[in-house]
Amino acid sequence: MAFDPSNKIQDLLNFGEFGGVNPSITDSATYTFMNLDTMKEAFDHEMEGCFLYSRHWNPINKFLSKALAQLEDSESALVTASGMAAISCTLLQICSAGDEILAHRTIYGGTYALMKNFLPRLGIQARFVNMLDVDAVQNAITKQTRVLYCESLSNPLIEVADIAALRSIADNHHLRLIVDNTFSPMVVSPIRLGAHAVIHSLTKFINGTSDCVAGCICASKDFIDALTNVNSGASMLLGPVLDSFRTASILKNIHSLHIRMQKHSANAQFLSEQFEKLGFRVFYPGLASSDQHGRMQRIMNPGFGYGGMLSVDFADAEKASRLMAAMQKAMVGYLAVSLGYFKTLFSSPGNSTSSEIPKKEQAAIGLSEGLIRFSVGLDNDIKRSFERMKKCLHEVDLI
Ligand SMILES: *Cc1c(COP(=O)(O)O)cnc(C)c1O
Repeated sequence: MAFDPSNKIQDLLNFGEFGGVNPSITDSATYTFMNLDTMKEAFDHEMEGCFLYSRHWNPINKFLSKALAQLEDSESALVTASGMAAISCTLLQICSAGDEILAHRTIYGGTYALMKNFLPRLGIQARFVNMLDVDAVQNAITKQTRVLYCESLSNPLIEVADIAALRSIADNHHLRLIVDNTFSPMVVSPIRLGAHAVIHSLTKFINGTSDCVAGCICASKDFIDALTNVNSGASMLLGPVLDSFRTASILKNIHSLHIRMQKHSANAQFLSEQFEKLGFRVFYPGLASSDQHGRMQRIMNPGFGYGGMLSVDFADAEKASRLMAAMQKAMVGYLAVSLGYFKTLFSSPGNSTSSEIPKKEQAAIGLSEGLIRFSVGLDNDIKRSFERMKKCLHEVDLI
């Protein structure tokens, strides 16, 4: 049966301690115990409804974590202070010195830099392959490999991962499959397709207002318990706890995520069709002409479209940058990194979010200097926005 994550969030009852329709915002770092025995028990085992210290768990973070577990259909989840904290805690929980990570060759720039530049200092090496090529993944696995890492829709070329195929490779080699689902909440449900853990940067679509940085890990109860273990858990010991005021506002925003994703997707579909009609090379899995279209149709949840992210290759770097300036002036959106905001955001990945990737590798993976990535906004009248974009294209001689 078709999976609808919005129903699962809809059915959550998170009322506050005095019957408020929203839960109270946790305003305590520490919690009292009626006697020493319960305190010792809380340290030794997690007790439902019993809190110890807010870096470990606190009520509002538990509410948001539960909503995120519903979203991803995972047993459990943990909110963190950023998407990068979710990624680094997950990798450090699984990997030790001597272990290897195998990752897709086009991933978020920060994740790439963590794996390429930082983790080797701890003796953890990463290698990058084209994960769309299942044989290439198979061939790159060594005795040291512990993790397969990819994004369900990858940044910035919007390639669709074959999560089920990657899971079967992972099973054959006793690896963990970690999938970053930041680009496609509700649209894709990686846990249901076989991922062991799902990462989100809540900073993006899930919060949707670009007013804070936050992240989460959705996984089995055992894995989340391991992350939060007071003696050995990466999140407990590295300490990237999300502030409760932020948690409370994200928890409210997640209840409109389904409506927002539908609108982001419909607008992105419209823009990609229009850009394609003008003759540009467009990367969007909703296009019938896209080589990612068939795979996307097999894995997507019905009803949320193909997501709000698209990239267009304008071929010429100088014209692309003048186009972005013109679009900002024409009030189409903002020249900014990040995504999932209610207004359209655009940037050129080669010079921003993917700049950690050396120029030579950028060329090898097909990342053109004239590429613009769009995070399409919630514009009610996207035709009007496109007319403005077309004027800008004229202005910079792209049409
Ligand atoms: C932004 C982003 C991250 C990092 O998240 P932060 O919240 O900025 O730490 C990770 N993965 C993807 C795909 C992202 O877009």
